[in-house]
Amino acid sequence: MENFDIIIIGTGFASSFFLHSYLSRADKKARILVLERGKDDSHAWQLQNKSLSSIISKTVNLTPAKRWPHYIGFGGTSRAWVACTPRMMPNDLQLKSKYGIGVDWPITYDELEPYYTEAEIIMAVSGPSDGSPFPRSQPYPQPPHRFNGSDKLLKQAYPDLYFQQPVARARIATNNRALCCATGVCNLCPADAKFTVQNEMAYLYQDPRVNLLLEAEALAIETEAGQATGVRYKKAGVEYVAKTNLVVLGANAIFNPYLLQKSNLLHPLLGKRLHEQVSQYVRIDLDGVDNFQGSTMITGHGYMLYDGSHRSKHAACIIENFNVPLSTLRVERGKWLQRCYMKFIFEDLPSEDNYIAISEKSPNLPKIVHKNHSAYAQRGLDTLPAILPKLLAPLPVENITMLHVNNTEGHIQGTTIMGNDPKTSIVDKNLLHHQVRNLLILGSSVFPTCSPANPTLTLSALSLWAADQL
Ligand SMILES: Cc1cc2nc3c(=O)[nH]c(=O)nc-3n(C[C@H](O)[C@H](O)[C@H](O)COP(=O)(O)OP(=O)(O)OC[C@H]3O[C@@H](n4cnc5c(N)ncnc54)[C@H](O)[C@@H]3O)c2cc1C
Ligand code: SF4
Repeated sequence: MENFDIIIIGTGFASSFFLHSYLSRADKKARILVLERGKDDSHAWQLQNKSLSSIISKTVNLTPAKRWPHYIGFGGTSRAWVACTPRMMPNDLQLKSKYGIGVDWPITYDELEPYYTEAEIIMAVSGPSDGSPFPRSQPYPQPPHRFNGSDKLLKQAYPDLYFQQPVARARIATNNRALCCATGVCNLCPADAKFTVQNEMAYLYQDPRVNLLLEAEALAIETEAGQATGVRYKKAGVEYVAKTNLVVLGANAIFNPYLLQKSNLLHPLLGKRLHEQVSQYVRIDLDGVDNFQGSTMITGHGYMLYDGSHRSKHAACIIENFNVPLSTLRVERGKWLQRCYMKFIFEDLPSEDNYIAISEKSPNLPKIVHKNHSAYAQRGLDTLPAILPKLLAPLPVENITMLHVNNTEGHIQGTTIMGNDPKTSIVDKNLLHHQVRNLLILGSSVFPTCSPANPTLTLSALSLWAADQL
């Protein structure tokens, strides 16, 4: 039986940002085991096979109309993400004290700020240079992407609430990534322009202190007298146990609670409050303004419906302005480009009706139950038809068409939530399990509330924070 200083489960954002920070301070002789369930599947392999992973992740989804996409393999779902990297707003972490709903996070924006900055540097984020909706201690590492025609009009009308979207899609080529050229098929970027663990963080796993085991599935965390002692895992059909002083779980918000349940580390809230944002696509036909000249897939980011007293009644919303035609261009002669597509993304209020559990029929799989988003999110969505004509008045609007409500954002959140009280949360503000004090749980599973913002920059910053607190 082998002994390690630390065992990390998963190689997605959560684990890789933690490893980045941990290695910078670890002893030269440190022994780190990383267990990754999937294969390497290089970017070249993905392009050749038109596939993001050679292993399909299996779950028992009891509400299949609601999808929870994620990918198994080295780099995790960084292979598939679209690389939108907004921070959360300070009030997102204080919903209870500011607006009387949800709960407050145990960590403040000010505590997280330096780690946001560090995560943005690692991802080489491109973002606005003329202000920011949230406080920042440093400028973005890369200059902003180019606006399209509709963005420019919205920026003139809402100078303090409309910005270039911060993205980890290269505005300037890096050593490992090409310049983003707005082809808009970012799930599998042909140019390898978006940040992934595979293109920018693979070097961490070549460190001589790191022993990366691919196709090694963690089965359970072993504990003794309230301490984690090791991890049981399976490779090539054989079960092993590796011993350790510290276990770091970064398997995402479906598999984090599932593995804790398999390890019998139970809690009334474990697996509960599964949630993500709810979004509505809107198509706007424009009169006399050509669109789609921006330099990346999503260019504009609107905060006009985000923070404010309305949050005590209905959900906050962030607006994305797409720079690629989502379904079609216009057919009228001379008007092909006179259209824009926007996504209005609302926060949800987590509910205990939505959860991850061990499937009774297939105990080797997690069961996903998501009954619905909250009435709070729905009230936000319901405000849109009345609000849009005034909100979009700075554009020469010919026609507004409400398109579909999206059935997934790909953001899996809130199943091992963080908090100060061990009765109402699974981990503390340093992401340490309240009962098993040498078990760290990373990723958006720790989010106690939602925020309209995409989660990955925040979960990456939290991994850097957690490594720093050890
Ligand atoms: C299509 C799509 C687009 C997205 N776009 C954005 C975006 O623009 N912006 C944004 O912020 N977020 C986006 N996301 C969400 C983002 O991808 C996730 O928030 C992020 O990947 C979560 O990181 P993670 O490390 O916690 O989990 P993952 O990236 O899912 O990594 C989990 C890792 O754990 C491994 N693993 C799981 N179980 C085991 C086990 N038992 N043993 C060993 N290893 C295991 C997996 O193989 C994987 O490597 C998107 C997601 C999708 C699907
Ligand atoms: S817009 Fe194109 S080049 Fe840029 S990240 Fe997406 S797919 Fe890659």
